[in-house]
Amino acid sequence: MPAAPEPLTGDVFDSHCHLDIMVGNRQASSGDPVAQAAQAAEASVERIVEEARAVGVTRLITIGYDLASSRWNTDVARIHPDVYAGVAIHPNEAHAATPEVLAEIEELAGEPQVRAVGETGLDYYRDWASKDDQHASFRAHIEIAKRTGKALVIHDREAHDDVLRVLADQGAPDAVVFHSFSGDAEMAKKCADAGYFMSFSGPVTYKNAGYLREAAEVAPKELILVETDAPYLPPVPHRGKPNAPYLIPLVVRCLAEVKGMDPGELAAAIRANGETVFGAW
Ligand SMILES: [Zn+2]
Repeated sequence: MPAAPEPLTGDVFDSHCHLDIMVGNRQASSGDPVAQAAQAAEASVERIVEEARAVGVTRLITIGYDLASSRWNTDVARIHPDVYAGVAIHPNEAHAATPEVLAEIEELAGEPQVRAVGETGLDYYRDWASKDDQHASFRAHIEIAKRTGKALVIHDREAHDDVLRVLADQGAPDAVVFHSFSGDAEMAKKCADAGYFMSFSGPVTYKNAGYLREAAEVAPKELILVETDAPYLPPVPHRGKPNAPYLIPLVVRCLAEVKGMDPGELAAAIRANGETVFGAW
């Protein structure tokens, strides 16, 4: 694992990680075995939380991508006070978003420790699910977020225009987050105009991703969040290694430099944004 970065002066949180994948419970099955898997993983989750806390990352949101991960996240967040959950069917799995599955997602989304309906959205990079299925699932998740009053966490891969169009057409929930924001400055302006939050991740630190730093420059600090998408997308200088929430300070420092802000001051703004989006901790 990469070495821990210098701690932040203020505390901040990770708006998007996948604890189940990090602790190897990706194959968690349905029903009670999921709760058991969550219990068994508690030791590893505890370590991830402690390592994050040591550098000023005091809360994590573990995000769902299928029914099993959504159940697992809900169970872990019930056990662990510093962990909150997101629940959804990923656009790559949109064919699995049957009415029964969506009904269970909505039931989970109603639990108090579940703070996000995500990740949902559109992925035109992969064709694992048809566009029709992806659009239907995205629209259904938008409605679940509105009915439950939870934040909508969006996966937008090479689908910026359609994601914005569907949100406008369907009517966006109060809190919308573009996870691992991948747009340029022009897209950031559109999101800012609509009041959508932009969650920046490891790629903003990549040498060849100047467009992301331009986007971050445009994004108002009132609409910025940070995330790892751990175990994916590690920031520089740890590309090729597994990512973890304790690496968030590297993303915060990069963003602070881009915005000409003190990292502690930016962390405080991000923490306040987190409470606006996900509710009081
Ligand atoms: Zn993710």
